[in-house]
This record gives sequence, structure tokens and C-alpha cells, in this order.
Amino acid sequence: IPTESLPLSDPVKSFYAESGILQLYPPQSKAISAGLLDGKNILISIPTASGKTLLAELAMLKSLEDHGKCLYVVPLRALASEKFRRFSEFRDLGFRTGISTGDLDERDENLGDHDIIVATSEKVDSLIRNGTHWLNQISVVVLDEVHLLDSPGRGPTLEIVITKLRKLNPKMQIVALSATIHNSKEVADWLKAECVVSDWRPTKLYEGVYFDGVFEGEVVHTKEKTMKEIELVGKGKDAGVSLAADTIRDGGQCLVFTNSRKNAAGFAKKAGPVIQSYLTVSEQAELLDLASAVTDRSDTDAAKVLASCIRTGVAFHHAGLSSDQRELVEKSFLAGKIKLIASTPTLAAGLNLPARRVIIAAWRRYDANDGMQPIPVMEYKQMAGRAGRPHLDPFGESVLIASKEEDVERLTEFYIEAEPESVESKLGAENALRTHVLSTVSNGFASTRAQLLDFFKDTFFAYQKGLLSTIALKTVIDKCLDFLIQADMCREDSGDSGNTSGNSNGNSNGNAAANGVDEGPASPFVTADKFNSLKEADDYPLFATKKGILVSKLYLDPLSASVILEDIQKAESAGMNLTDISLLHLICKTTDMPQLYMKTNDYIPVTEFAAENAEHIISMPPTKNAAEFEWFLGELKTAILLYRWISEAPENEISKEFDVGEGDIRQFSETAGWIAGAASRLLKMSGLSSAGLFSDLELRLQYGASIQLLPLLKIRGIGRVRARRLYNAGFKSKESFEPADFETAARLIGPKIARQLFNEIGIDVGGYVVSDSKNSNSDFGG
Ligand code: ADP
Repeated sequence: IPTESLPLSDPVKSFYAESGILQLYPPQSKAISAGLLDGKNILISIPTASGKTLLAELAMLKSLEDHGKCLYVVPLRALASEKFRRFSEFRDLGFRTGISTGDLDERDENLGDHDIIVATSEKVDSLIRNGTHWLNQISVVVLDEVHLLDSPGRGPTLEIVITKLRKLNPKMQIVALSATIHNSKEVADWLKAECVVSDWRPTKLYEGVYFDGVFEGEVVHTKEKTMKEIELVGKGKDAGVSLAADTIRDGGQCLVFTNSRKNAAGFAKKAGPVIQSYLTVSEQAELLDLASAVTDRSDTDAAKVLASCIRTGVAFHHAGLSSDQRELVEKSFLAGKIKLIASTPTLAAGLNLPARRVIIAAWRRYDANDGMQPIPVMEYKQMAGRAGRPHLDPFGESVLIASKEEDVERLTEFYIEAEPESVESKLGAENALRTHVLSTVSNGFASTRAQLLDFFKDTFFAYQKGLLSTIALKTVIDKCLDFLIQADMCREDSGDSGNTSGNSNGNSNGNAAANGVDEGPASPFVTADKFNSLKEADDYPLFATKKGILVSKLYLDPLSASVILEDIQKAESAGMNLTDISLLHLICKTTDMPQLYMKTNDYIPVTEFAAENAEHIISMPPTKNAAEFEWFLGELKTAILLYRWISEAPENEISKEFDVGEGDIRQFSETAGWIAGAASRLLKMSGLSSAGLFSDLELRLQYGASIQLLPLLKIRGIGRVRARRLYNAGFKSKESFEPADFETAARLIGPKIARQLFNEIGIDVGGYVVSDSKNSNSDFGG
């Protein structure tokens, strides 16, 4: 279908024509025929790079022309930024795009002024919980990467968000974008959507397995050369490096997927010297600048290694990098400056970084529960699908490297010829459901047990598992409710005055049956009487308490909230002196906080730390229970990392001590800071005096510094290292600076930043010139 003939306004059509999109790809045409532009729900399950985003854009623009409002839901923050940048181009068409990925306890009312809003699924969930008014004005919702319904971490939230959005906007159009999955029809049926499936790709993809000079699969030709003829290069004639070198020599780029961060960096290091030999002088000069940009911003050992790789035209990419570093690597690769990225599988999901050749250097990955495990077919397809940049590469190639001859055939069958797996709901577990049961009641989507069950009957879990799921769901929902009622986050009005004492917030309508549920031992025979009383119990008014409503809005797991309240109540009534370690350990004990694993060398120092700080730890587990104690040590190890961060330990020291990257330090401190902030509000509502301690801690976690530096840290451009230098020299806040201090400040933090600082605080330093002093103008970790 020519874009010219689409039922869209002329400006929209010329917008695409000008960017060279004149004809729709075949699967895109299929989606149009299926009713994409007639407001029909559509699920599009097609390979990477075959134009899913364009379809979402067309559906959104069509709706915007009819004065609609669109919500684009993504799984990851990085993806949200990528889509936000793209949709911001619609400004010329008169449509405004907003992005919401930030704090999970905010309402973001102003976002509603935008025409398209891009947000992560967690953020949408939180916006719903906080009663954001514009969420019931959505005309089109796009669900990007909807196959992540399968993910134990993200799937349940996505499922609940979809279910709630559909209830809020019964007429809304759903556009679901999915990688190729086995049961796309099933997901589409749940969404009441037309299903568009295709394996068409804009560039031909050759897939194969390589072992010892032999290539199995569709024959790959690079200028008529078979894989057998690829010249083996590098130390020990490494197959992966040789395959990469071959593509780069021919002017392509390479993505290499490894199974760990260490292996990603290791591959980049060994490929670097080979790749460097194919670079031109001007390419090398550009890379030098990129490398200095990395070391200017960070002095960690990892940053140095990354910079030295970048100098040779290669890079590695994983979640341990800081977001600055990841962005620099992605952009420089897209611009063709970096020729090869060695990555963990994180890069395969979502981000648009195609390359001519994809090398899958490892098809097994370590799993904490099951040891080395083969990667899922769906993941293989996503990695392989990154091969071939549309319009730039003549074809794409994906090569799986086998380590044994007998694996060649197996891998061909297991991955290349295999169908991707089915997506399966992960909503059934109590840990996943607890928070959603609370928010569903708290937001008024259900006000009896029966309605709660009805709500969950509309989820993908119930759709997929059929009738059986109703029984399973009821059991889990009842368990969650028992917990929530016991923690005083929900209440059920059984009409029995004993159960309704306390300050109910008025939801009770008093029409519940007078008799409570029989609490005697469960009988295998359900009598008619008993059946009726159970049925009645399902209709008792159910509502969230003030505490429950706050926990839901704060986005805390109710279990985390109850642990925080219990421990602080206990500590306060015992008159305990709460230190940073007490609070940090409590934060690390909650289910919302990710944890560091214990490694062999950690046991002695962490156990010693526990012994030395025993009096500061609110609930010390008994050492007798080995599993519980091990878990506790992991929590404590994480708390020590955070303690070092707020005590201003240099990031490089923390990195080395805990074997983590800058990206991890940021992630840990951000999450802990969010929990501290939520804890503070929760404690304040409960009238507990430790609330203030947590709000100070929130800021310190955010900045990685002690509280005395906060006035300086609030000045733009001043990070923890520069703030410390200024503070130690007697500058404690904005007000401490006089015009005559410029020279001192320039010496401490570098003339460029000093000038920016004086500008910021409104002191004119005019043409004041200072000699540039070395080593003073970087603020690592700031
Ligand atoms: P996906 O979301 O399926 O991974 P994208 O929508 O990002 O794929 O599309 C990949 C690239 O193809 C983008 O650069 C996009 O502009 C381009 N593209 C999409 N549809 C067309 C088309 N019909 N004609 C030309 N280029 C297209």
C-alpha cells in the first residue's frame, strides 16, 4: 500500500513521504487491511525491524487527528526515551509528546496536556493508583513488547495495567506489538484483537551455526566467500573475533552476544587490537575523543577499560555501565564510529541497534537456581533479528558459535529451525498478586471479594488458564486478602460488629449478611448452609484503609510496608538508637529492594560487620537457621554498599569492593532512596517519629553524600566530589560565595564549572581569567 493512499491528513502523509517512507511493507499493509486505521484492536507479531513502530505511529496519528489521546507503554526506561525522541518529531504536525518514567508516587497531572504520553508499565500502574484523571481519556494505547507478559518481573504489572486501562476506557483501541511468539493468537484473543502475523523482513536474514571453520545452515556469502574461507585472526585464532573481523573489514558492523558482563568486556578486549587494524586515521582520532568523554566523566576502573576498548573501535554494553556510558556506546555505534559491541542479552530486547552481523558467542547462560541453561528460542530470535540494517546492509547474518562438533546439528534444530515459545502469564503467584489485589481494591475496581475475582477473571492469566484458574485465583486472592486485612490495609465488613470496629472510612453499606463465615475446621463436604455463607462472605463490602490506600499510592509492596512499620514500631518502643545501618538494613530487607549475592570471600567480612553492628540491626535473625542467616547477610552486604555510597566513598572503591558497576550503584541507591521516601511518608502517617530520619536518608541516597553537602548539591553541575571539595574549603552553601572567591573556586573545581557555578548563583565574574589547573576540573561520580 502506498502511504499516499492512507486515510490520513496531507501533512501526515508528507511527513512520511519526506522521510522516504512511500510504500508500506507487506505485514504493515496486512495490519491496515485488518482495520488498524478503523479503530480495531490489533496485535502485530512480526520480526524485529519490520516496522512495528510505524504501525503504532499511524494508529496514533489517525486518532490524534480525531482529537484523541494516546498512551505508549514500554517495558524499559531506555526504550521510553528512544520512543519519546522519535514521537517528539510530530511537533511539526501539531502534536505534543510527553514522557513519564520518574517517581512512582507522583500523579503527573500536567502530562495530560500532551497528545502522546510515553511511559513504562510500572509508571502507568502507579499513575492509575494515584487516580490520574487523564487516564480515562485514552483513545489509543500501544503496548510495546507485549510478549513480556511472560516475564516474571514485569509481566504481572503489564497484565494488570492492560486490564485496568480497558475498564477505564472501554472504547479505547489497543495496538499490541510483539516479537514473534508461538501463541500470538491466544494473546490477541484475550485483547479482542485481530492478529497480524508474518515472518517477512525488510532485509534477508541468513542464520547459521559455526564450528571450527565449518558453517552449517543457509550458506552465508560475504562477497561470494563461504564461511570456510574466513581468515582466522586474533590470539589463538579465535572464531568469534575472526567472524567479527570479517564483517568489519567489509564495511559492516557487528553485535556480539555473550552470557555475562565479564565475557562481554573480555570479548571486546580481545577483539579490539584486530578491529583497530581496519580503522582509518580519522576514525581513530574520533574514537580518541569518545574515549576521553568516558574517562572525563568517571574514574572507575571499568570506565578506563571501556575507554581503552573504544579507542580500538569496539565497546561492551551491560547493565553495570552508567546510563551516560550506555548512551554514548549506543549512539556511537548507530553513527558507525564504534564497529563492534559485545553485550549481555539485555541489548537484544527493544533497543534499535541493528548490525550487519550478529554473533551469538554463547547459547547457555548461568541461572542462579538451575546453573547453566540454554537461552529460550524467543531470545535467540530477538538476537538474530538484530542482523541487517534496513536500507544500509545488503543482508543480515546471524552466527551461533558451537563449541563442539556434535552441537552444530543440535543448535540448528533447537534454535534456527525452532518455533519461538509461547507466552505464559506469571500472575498466579502470591508475591505478584498481593500488591495488585490491594491496588485493585484501593482504586475501587472491586469492592467485594466476588468483584475482585471478577476483576481478575479479565486478566490474561484467567484467559489462558481457563476455568481451573478461577479456583487457583480464588485461593491466592484469599491469601493476599488475609494478609492485607491482618496488616490493616484492607477491611471487610462482615456485618459482625467485632470485625468492623475501628475507623472504617465509610465504605461500608451495611447490607452484608449478619452471619460471619464458619471458622471451624474445613470440611470436605460443603453443606448448603455453608455454601451460602461462603457465597455471602464473597459479597461483604471490602475496602482499603487509609494505610492501604497510602501503600498502594506509594507503590510499595504491602509486604515491604508491613515489615517497615513492624520493625520501626518495635525499635521505637524499645527505645533503640536508630543509625544509618539500622535504616539501610531495614530498606534492604524489603521485597522491593534488589539484593547483592554473597560470594565466598564475603562471609568473613560481612559476618564480622554483623557482629560489630548487632545492636544497630533491628531484627537480627538467629544464626541457627542457615538459609535465613545467609539471606540476612545478603541484605546486610547490600546495606553496606549503600552505607559506603552515602558516606561518600569513591565510586571506584565501591565498584571494586562489591564487584559492581556504576550502573548498579545508581540502581541500588535510586531504589533504596525511593523506599526511604515511601517509608518516611508511611511512618509519618502512622505517627512514628523516625519518619524524619528516612526523609534525610532519601536525599543522601539520591546524592551519595552526607547531609551537610545538600545545600551545595542543589546547585546545578555540582556533584558529590566537587561539593566535598568546596565544603572542606569553607563554602557551605550558595550564600558562602563572594565575587573574590572565584579564583579559589576555580582552583577547587576547575574554571569552567566555577564559572557556571557563579553564573548560577548570580555573581558576575566578568572577564576574570584564571590559569587552567590540571586535575581539578573533573567531578567523578558527580
Ligand atoms: P520494529 O519496531 O518492528 O523493530 P521499526 O518500526 O523500528 O521496527 O522499523 C525499523 C526501521 O524501518 C525504521 O527505521 C523505520 O523508519 C523503517 N521503516 C518502517 N516501515 C518502513 C516502510 N514502510 N518503508 C521504509 N522504511 C520503513
